[in-house]
Amino acid sequence: MNTDIPLPAHTWPTLEPGWVWLCGAGPGDPGLLTLHAVNALRQADVVIYDALVQEQILSWAPQAEHIYAGKRGGKPSAKQRDISLRLVDLARAGKRVLRLKGGDPFVFGRGGEEAQTLVQHGIPIRIIPGISAGIGGLAYAGIPVTHRDVNQSVTFVTGHDQSGNTPSSLDWTSISKGSQVIVIYMGMKHIAQISQQLIKAGRSLNEPVAVVTTATTDQQQVLETTLGTIVNDIADAGLEPPAIICVGQSVLMRQVLDWQNMAAGQPPRNLDPLGRGRPAESA
Ligand code: SAH
Repeated sequence: MNTDIPLPAHTWPTLEPGWVWLCGAGPGDPGLLTLHAVNALRQADVVIYDALVQEQILSWAPQAEHIYAGKRGGKPSAKQRDISLRLVDLARAGKRVLRLKGGDPFVFGRGGEEAQTLVQHGIPIRIIPGISAGIGGLAYAGIPVTHRDVNQSVTFVTGHDQSGNTPSSLDWTSISKGSQVIVIYMGMKHIAQISQQLIKAGRSLNEPVAVVTTATTDQQQVLETTLGTIVNDIADAGLEPPAIICVGQSVLMRQVLDWQNMAAGQPPRNLDPLGRGRPAESA
Protein backbone atom coordinates (compact mmCIF):
# COMPACT_ATOMS: atom_id res chain seq x y z
CA MET A 1 0.00 0.00 0.00
CA ASN A 2 1.16 3.52 -0.84
CA THR A 3 0.91 5.46 2.40
CA ASP A 4 2.19 8.79 1.04
CA ILE A 5 -1.29 10.21 1.22
CA PRO A 6 -2.55 9.74 4.77
CA LEU A 7 -6.20 9.03 5.41
CA PRO A 8 -8.12 10.00 8.54
CA ALA A 9 -8.56 7.22 11.11
CA HIS A 10 -11.40 4.94 9.97
CA THR A 11 -11.86 1.30 9.08
CA TRP A 12 -11.12 1.57 5.37
CA PRO A 13 -12.01 -1.35 3.10
CA THR A 14 -9.20 -3.40 1.60
CA LEU A 15 -8.94 -3.73 -2.17
CA GLU A 16 -8.26 -7.45 -2.44
CA PRO A 17 -6.50 -9.13 -5.39
CA GLY A 18 -9.02 -10.19 -8.01
CA TRP A 19 -11.48 -7.42 -7.15
CA VAL A 20 -12.53 -4.44 -9.27
CA TRP A 21 -13.59 -1.21 -7.66
CA LEU A 22 -15.54 1.10 -9.96
CA CYS A 23 -14.91 4.55 -8.70
CA GLY A 24 -16.01 8.08 -9.54
CA ALA A 25 -13.19 10.62 -9.87
CA GLY A 26 -15.45 13.67 -9.77
CA PRO A 27 -15.63 16.32 -12.47
CA GLY A 28 -11.97 17.41 -12.45
CA ASP A 29 -10.70 19.20 -9.35
CA PRO A 30 -8.80 16.46 -7.47
CA GLY A 31 -10.16 17.89 -4.21
CA LEU A 32 -13.56 16.56 -5.22
CA LEU A 33 -12.48 12.93 -4.89
CA THR A 34 -14.05 10.97 -2.07
CA LEU A 35 -11.97 9.47 0.71
CA HIS A 36 -12.96 6.04 -0.56
CA ALA A 37 -11.41 7.01 -3.91
CA VAL A 38 -8.17 8.01 -2.18
CA ASN A 39 -8.21 4.75 -0.24
CA ALA A 40 -8.59 2.89 -3.54
CA LEU A 41 -5.77 4.84 -5.23
CA ARG A 42 -3.41 3.89 -2.41
CA GLN A 43 -4.04 0.17 -2.89
CA ALA A 44 -4.53 -0.41 -6.61
CA ASP A 45 -2.13 -2.47 -8.73
CA VAL A 46 -3.79 -1.15 -11.89
CA VAL A 47 -5.78 2.00 -12.54
CA ILE A 48 -7.88 2.02 -15.71
CA TYR A 49 -8.96 5.58 -16.27
CA ASP A 50 -11.09 7.66 -18.62
CA ALA A 51 -10.34 10.70 -20.76
CA LEU A 52 -11.82 13.10 -18.24
CA VAL A 53 -9.72 11.96 -15.26
CA GLN A 54 -7.04 14.51 -14.31
CA GLU A 55 -3.35 13.55 -14.34
CA GLN A 56 -2.83 14.68 -10.77
CA ILE A 57 -5.30 12.11 -9.52
CA LEU A 58 -3.25 9.34 -11.16
CA SER A 59 -0.11 10.63 -9.49
CA TRP A 60 -1.72 9.60 -6.21
CA ALA A 61 -1.33 5.96 -7.26
CA PRO A 62 2.40 5.94 -8.19
CA GLN A 63 2.71 2.24 -7.34
CA ALA A 64 0.06 1.27 -9.89
CA GLU A 65 0.14 0.66 -13.60
CA HIS A 66 -1.95 3.32 -15.34
CA ILE A 67 -4.00 2.22 -18.33
CA TYR A 68 -5.83 4.78 -20.47
CA ALA A 69 -9.28 3.67 -21.57
CA GLY A 70 -10.31 6.99 -23.04
CA LYS A 71 -13.21 7.02 -25.34
CA ARG A 72 -14.82 10.19 -26.51
CA GLY A 73 -18.53 10.52 -27.17
CA GLY A 74 -20.28 8.86 -30.06
CA LYS A 75 -17.64 6.23 -30.86
CA PRO A 76 -18.76 2.68 -31.65
CA SER A 77 -19.58 0.54 -28.65
CA ALA A 78 -17.09 -2.24 -29.51
CA LYS A 79 -14.50 -0.42 -27.45
CA GLN A 80 -16.73 -0.47 -24.42
CA ARG A 81 -16.77 -4.26 -24.69
CA ASP A 82 -12.97 -4.28 -24.82
CA ILE A 83 -12.74 -2.17 -21.68
CA SER A 84 -15.18 -4.35 -19.76
CA LEU A 85 -13.38 -7.55 -20.77
CA ARG A 86 -10.00 -6.01 -19.97
CA LEU A 87 -11.28 -5.44 -16.44
CA VAL A 88 -12.30 -9.10 -16.25
CA ASP A 89 -8.86 -10.24 -17.47
CA LEU A 90 -6.99 -8.05 -15.00
CA ALA A 91 -9.11 -9.25 -12.09
CA ARG A 92 -8.61 -12.88 -13.15
CA ALA A 93 -4.86 -12.23 -13.24
CA GLY A 94 -5.14 -11.45 -9.53
CA LYS A 95 -4.70 -7.69 -9.79
CA ARG A 96 -6.26 -5.15 -7.47
CA VAL A 97 -8.12 -3.21 -10.12
CA LEU A 98 -9.33 0.35 -9.82
CA ARG A 99 -11.63 1.47 -12.63
CA LEU A 100 -11.61 5.26 -12.38
CA LYS A 101 -14.32 7.15 -14.24
CA GLY A 102 -15.10 10.85 -14.53
CA GLY A 103 -17.83 12.22 -12.28
CA ASP A 104 -20.03 9.46 -10.90
CA PRO A 105 -19.58 6.00 -12.42
CA PHE A 106 -23.33 5.41 -12.64
CA VAL A 107 -24.28 8.71 -14.27
CA PHE A 108 -24.06 8.52 -18.10
CA GLY A 109 -20.74 6.74 -17.72
CA ARG A 110 -21.47 3.15 -18.74
CA GLY A 111 -20.50 2.16 -15.22
CA GLY A 112 -23.60 0.00 -14.92
CA GLU A 113 -22.64 -2.02 -17.97
CA GLU A 114 -19.06 -2.50 -16.80
CA ALA A 115 -20.25 -3.59 -13.36
CA GLN A 116 -22.77 -5.97 -14.88
CA THR A 117 -20.13 -7.57 -17.11
CA LEU A 118 -17.89 -8.08 -14.08
CA VAL A 119 -20.67 -9.70 -12.06
CA GLN A 120 -21.62 -11.89 -15.04
CA HIS A 121 -18.01 -13.11 -15.10
CA GLY A 122 -18.00 -13.78 -11.37
CA ILE A 123 -15.69 -10.87 -10.48
CA PRO A 124 -16.39 -9.25 -7.09
CA ILE A 125 -16.94 -5.49 -7.24
CA ARG A 126 -17.35 -2.41 -5.12
CA ILE A 127 -18.91 0.84 -6.36
CA ILE A 128 -17.56 4.18 -5.17
CA PRO A 129 -19.83 7.07 -6.13
CA GLY A 130 -18.41 10.38 -7.25
CA ILE A 131 -19.54 13.96 -7.69
CA SER A 132 -21.28 14.18 -11.02
CA ALA A 133 -20.45 17.05 -13.38
CA GLY A 134 -24.12 17.95 -13.66
CA ILE A 135 -24.23 18.78 -9.95
CA GLY A 136 -20.67 19.63 -8.89
CA GLY A 137 -19.72 21.31 -12.16
CA LEU A 138 -22.70 23.62 -11.90
CA ALA A 139 -21.89 24.35 -8.25
CA TYR A 140 -18.41 25.52 -9.29
CA ALA A 141 -20.12 27.89 -11.72
CA GLY A 142 -22.31 29.23 -8.89
CA ILE A 143 -25.49 27.51 -10.11
CA PRO A 144 -27.54 25.52 -7.58
CA VAL A 145 -29.03 22.53 -9.37
CA THR A 146 -32.15 22.95 -7.25
CA HIS A 147 -33.27 26.20 -5.67
CA ARG A 148 -36.51 26.50 -3.74
CA ASP A 149 -37.81 29.48 -5.70
CA VAL A 150 -37.05 27.84 -9.04
CA ASN A 151 -37.46 24.07 -9.18
CA GLN A 152 -38.77 21.12 -7.25
CA SER A 153 -37.37 18.66 -9.74
CA VAL A 154 -34.48 18.44 -12.12
CA THR A 155 -34.00 16.32 -15.21
CA PHE A 156 -30.60 15.02 -16.29
CA VAL A 157 -30.46 14.14 -19.96
CA THR A 158 -27.79 12.99 -22.35
CA GLY A 159 -27.42 14.83 -25.64
CA HIS A 160 -26.38 11.79 -27.57
CA ASP A 161 -26.60 8.03 -27.38
CA GLN A 162 -24.14 5.28 -28.29
CA SER A 163 -24.57 5.93 -32.00
CA GLY A 164 -23.75 9.62 -31.54
CA ASN A 165 -27.30 10.78 -32.34
CA THR A 166 -29.65 12.55 -29.96
CA PRO A 167 -31.40 9.71 -28.14
CA SER A 168 -34.63 8.92 -29.95
CA SER A 169 -36.25 7.82 -26.71
CA LEU A 170 -36.14 11.35 -25.30
CA ASP A 171 -39.52 13.06 -25.26
CA TRP A 172 -38.44 16.71 -25.33
CA THR A 173 -42.02 17.94 -25.05
CA SER A 174 -42.57 16.11 -21.76
CA ILE A 175 -39.16 17.07 -20.43
CA SER A 176 -39.70 20.66 -21.39
CA LYS A 177 -43.13 20.81 -19.73
CA GLY A 178 -42.30 18.66 -16.73
CA SER A 179 -38.97 19.98 -15.56
CA GLN A 180 -38.17 23.58 -14.69
CA VAL A 181 -34.47 22.82 -14.83
CA ILE A 182 -32.85 20.56 -17.43
CA VAL A 183 -29.20 19.54 -17.11
CA ILE A 184 -27.72 18.22 -20.34
CA TYR A 185 -24.63 16.01 -20.50
CA MET A 186 -22.86 15.52 -23.84
CA GLY A 187 -25.03 18.21 -25.35
CA MET A 188 -22.55 20.25 -27.40
CA LYS A 189 -22.67 18.26 -30.62
CA HIS A 190 -26.44 18.51 -31.01
CA ILE A 191 -27.11 21.77 -29.21
CA ALA A 192 -28.80 23.33 -32.26
CA GLN A 193 -31.29 20.49 -32.45
CA ILE A 194 -31.81 20.30 -28.68
CA SER A 195 -32.43 24.02 -28.25
CA GLN A 196 -34.87 24.00 -31.16
CA GLN A 197 -36.80 21.08 -29.69
CA LEU A 198 -37.09 22.82 -26.33
CA ILE A 199 -38.32 26.03 -27.97
CA LYS A 200 -40.78 24.05 -30.09
CA ALA A 201 -42.04 22.40 -26.92
CA GLY A 202 -42.82 25.78 -25.41
CA ARG A 203 -39.71 26.99 -23.60
CA SER A 204 -39.03 30.68 -24.09
CA LEU A 205 -36.37 32.00 -26.45
CA ASN A 206 -35.24 34.07 -23.46
CA GLU A 207 -34.90 31.08 -21.13
CA PRO A 208 -31.58 31.39 -19.30
CA VAL A 209 -28.97 28.77 -20.18
CA ALA A 210 -25.46 28.24 -18.88
CA VAL A 211 -22.71 26.28 -20.61
CA VAL A 212 -19.93 25.19 -18.25
CA THR A 213 -16.89 23.66 -19.93
CA THR A 214 -14.11 21.72 -18.19
CA ALA A 215 -15.91 22.53 -14.96
CA THR A 216 -13.95 22.56 -11.69
CA THR A 217 -10.58 22.61 -13.50
CA ASP A 218 -8.28 25.61 -14.04
CA GLN A 219 -9.65 25.81 -17.58
CA GLN A 220 -13.28 26.16 -16.50
CA GLN A 221 -15.29 28.51 -18.73
CA VAL A 222 -18.86 29.61 -18.17
CA LEU A 223 -21.13 31.08 -20.81
CA GLU A 224 -24.42 32.64 -19.76
CA THR A 225 -26.81 32.79 -22.67
CA THR A 226 -30.41 31.98 -23.66
CA LEU A 227 -32.11 29.22 -25.61
CA GLY A 228 -32.56 31.59 -28.55
CA THR A 229 -28.91 32.64 -28.77
CA ILE A 230 -27.00 29.63 -27.46
CA VAL A 231 -25.81 28.26 -30.79
CA ASN A 232 -24.20 31.50 -31.94
CA ASP A 233 -22.86 32.30 -28.49
CA ILE A 234 -21.12 28.91 -28.17
CA ALA A 235 -19.53 29.42 -31.58
CA ASP A 236 -18.49 33.02 -30.80
CA ALA A 237 -16.94 31.98 -27.49
CA GLY A 238 -15.20 29.03 -29.17
CA LEU A 239 -16.37 26.65 -26.45
CA GLU A 240 -15.45 22.98 -26.72
CA PRO A 241 -16.65 19.88 -24.83
CA PRO A 242 -16.71 18.55 -22.20
CA ALA A 243 -19.56 20.80 -21.19
CA ILE A 244 -22.56 20.74 -18.95
CA ILE A 245 -25.51 22.72 -20.22
CA CYS A 246 -28.09 23.92 -17.72
CA VAL A 247 -31.44 25.25 -18.90
CA GLY A 248 -33.67 27.10 -16.46
CA GLN A 249 -34.08 30.05 -14.10
CA SER A 250 -31.54 28.67 -11.64
CA VAL A 251 -28.88 29.91 -14.06
CA LEU A 252 -29.80 33.46 -12.93
CA MET A 253 -28.61 32.60 -9.42
CA ARG A 254 -25.08 32.79 -10.78
CA GLN A 255 -25.47 36.58 -10.61
CA VAL A 256 -25.33 36.31 -6.82
CA LEU A 257 -23.51 32.99 -6.30
CA ASP A 258 -20.55 33.19 -8.71
CA TRP A 259 -18.20 32.46 -5.83
CA GLN A 260 -15.09 32.02 -7.94
CA ASN A 261 -15.27 35.53 -9.39
CA MET A 262 -16.20 36.91 -5.97
CA ALA A 263 -13.14 35.20 -4.49
CA ALA A 264 -11.13 36.93 -7.23
CA GLY A 265 -12.40 40.28 -5.96
CA GLN A 266 -15.44 40.97 -8.13
CA PRO A 267 -18.62 42.14 -6.40
CA PRO A 268 -21.83 40.10 -6.82
CA ARG A 269 -23.69 41.34 -9.89
CA ASN A 270 -27.19 41.21 -8.42
CA LEU A 271 -28.13 40.30 -4.85
CA ASP A 272 -31.69 39.31 -5.82
CA PRO A 273 -31.53 37.95 -9.37
CA LEU A 274 -34.93 36.26 -9.16
CA GLY A 275 -36.52 39.52 -8.02
CA ARG A 276 -38.14 37.97 -4.94
CA GLY A 277 -37.85 41.20 -2.98
CA ARG A 278 -37.38 39.40 0.33
CA PRO A 279 -34.37 38.18 2.26
CA ALA A 280 -33.21 34.73 1.16
CA GLU A 281 -33.47 33.40 4.71
CA SER A 282 -37.20 34.25 5.02
CA ALA A 283 -39.77 31.47 4.76
N1 SAH B 1 -20.05 10.08 -15.28
C1 SAH B 1 -19.85 11.47 -15.63
C2 SAH B 1 -20.48 11.81 -16.97
C3 SAH B 1 -19.86 11.05 -18.12
S1 SAH B 1 -20.52 11.51 -19.65
C4 SAH B 1 -20.40 12.35 -14.51
O1 SAH B 1 -21.08 11.85 -13.61
O2 SAH B 1 -20.11 13.54 -14.50
C5 SAH B 1 -19.38 12.73 -20.18
C6 SAH B 1 -20.04 14.10 -20.13
O3 SAH B 1 -20.06 14.56 -18.79
C7 SAH B 1 -19.32 15.17 -20.89
O4 SAH B 1 -19.63 15.13 -22.28
C8 SAH B 1 -19.88 16.40 -20.23
O5 SAH B 1 -21.19 16.66 -20.66
C9 SAH B 1 -19.94 15.95 -18.79
N2 SAH B 1 -18.73 16.32 -18.04
C10 SAH B 1 -17.91 15.50 -17.39
N3 SAH B 1 -16.92 16.19 -16.76
C11 SAH B 1 -17.15 17.49 -17.05
C12 SAH B 1 -16.50 18.70 -16.71
N4 SAH B 1 -15.41 18.73 -15.93
N5 SAH B 1 -17.03 19.86 -17.16
C13 SAH B 1 -18.13 19.87 -17.93
N6 SAH B 1 -18.78 18.75 -18.29
C14 SAH B 1 -18.30 17.58 -17.85
